[in-house]
Amino acid sequence: EPVEIGVSGKLPSDPVVVVASRSHGSEATEKFLERFTVRERTSAGSSLKICLVAEAIKRVFDKNGNRKDKRKARLRYLVRKIGFEGFRELYARELAALKADSPACPSPRPIIPPVPTGEGAADGPPPESADFPQWRQTNVTGQKQPGQCIVEVPLLLGDIRADKLRSMADIAGRFGEQMVRTTQWQSLVLRWVFQGELADLHQALAAVGLADSQPTILRKLIACTGAGTEEESPTPAFVPSPSTPPSDTSPPPTPTPAPTQVESPDNEDSLGLLTIVDKEHGLPPAYAPPNLVEIPPEWIAPGFPSELLRKEASEALVVMLRAARAEGHELRLRSAYRSYEEQATTFQYWIDQLGEEEARRVSAPPGHSEHQLGTTVDLTSASVGWQLEQAFGQTPEGQWLAAHAHEYGFPLSYPQGAEAITGYTYEPWHFRYIGRDQAANWAQSGLTLIEFLKQPTD
Ligand SMILES: [Zn+2]
Repeated sequence: EPVEIGVSGKLPSDPVVVVASRSHGSEATEKFLERFTVRERTSAGSSLKICLVAEAIKRVFDKNGNRKDKRKARLRYLVRKIGFEGFRELYARELAALKADSPACPSPRPIIPPVPTGEGAADGPPPESADFPQWRQTNVTGQKQPGQCIVEVPLLLGDIRADKLRSMADIAGRFGEQMVRTTQWQSLVLRWVFQGELADLHQALAAVGLADSQPTILRKLIACTGAGTEEESPTPAFVPSPSTPPSDTSPPPTPTPAPTQVESPDNEDSLGLLTIVDKEHGLPPAYAPPNLVEIPPEWIAPGFPSELLRKEASEALVVMLRAARAEGHELRLRSAYRSYEEQATTFQYWIDQLGEEEARRVSAPPGHSEHQLGTTVDLTSASVGWQLEQAFGQTPEGQWLAAHAHEYGFPLSYPQGAEAITGYTYEPWHFRYIGRDQAANWAQSGLTLIEFLKQPTD
């Protein structure tokens, strides 16, 4: 079955080694190859068959092997069980079925050596736009393979319009491996992009408004500062969820120095309710809120573990949730207090997964979450499946909270459209208790909570 393949970038001017099938050659292939100076030609017809072989083996294992017990999820256990002949028979059957079917491989992209960009380049390096160096610095990382790059295409809050998505598909067809990968930061990634193609790629992305090169911190914020257990099945142990990195795990603006010490609370704030916690202001490891109590289980989202909160905040919370219920809005709590150690565990988890340098890109050191104060809650409702997502802001429950939470002492920390000020995207579920009086002052001020807390007191 002939498959059309595309070639992107500029043709190499140096002689190339061509890998081509001898038995499946064609006039078109020969014509195509006339554009190159061929130094050497290697026959590799089986390079396509190997995909079928691999697929057939995988299918035998999928159908007969053990995928449930990870200690037994090995081909050798299956071969031991059914014998080599038995395995070969199953394999032959799968392979025959595959051959009769469509090709198992996605159309492979021909390997072309990197285009020389320095002196001696056939027609000089592609023109670079003024934004290119910045974009290259923030969005491009080198692969292990020399000359190959990974290019990230950030999407604001993970959204992309259909027309842009079509353009993105065209671009992906021209650069890299003709494949788009999604990331846990809701961005897209192109791999196997040649260095020499970067300027062209940047130009193509910029033309459709996809060459965002804001600092990482602004591109990658997607979720809540404390929802470390989102999407996880309920478990008492703290397990960071790779699928939804909370903004607790967002990187700090600069390579992080030791967390700054907590500002000493002013006299009016003997309870420490007004402590500033943001990307620049961290809490020390020893900081643990006083009077932590368990929140009554009836207010915990179904299936989620118990949570702690400072006594005064917990009491105010229950009053608020009862008031909401009386007005027909059933709200539940997803998370509350998170200790320094829990955040340290998260951070260590990422270091183990990615190494320290990469971990700092996805996870902040502990001490920078309002949840560590023991006064902060994430609330949700059945109408969004008890998830923490922005759609909650449009639900009757979310709107009730937006209108009334401050009356019970709970300002919304990260309102819509205030990322530039708060450092976080809209989190309609995240409320911090500062006491009724202060919350009333806050509501009057019209400021975001962080601005309000940073106001000099006289
Ligand atoms: Zn939160």
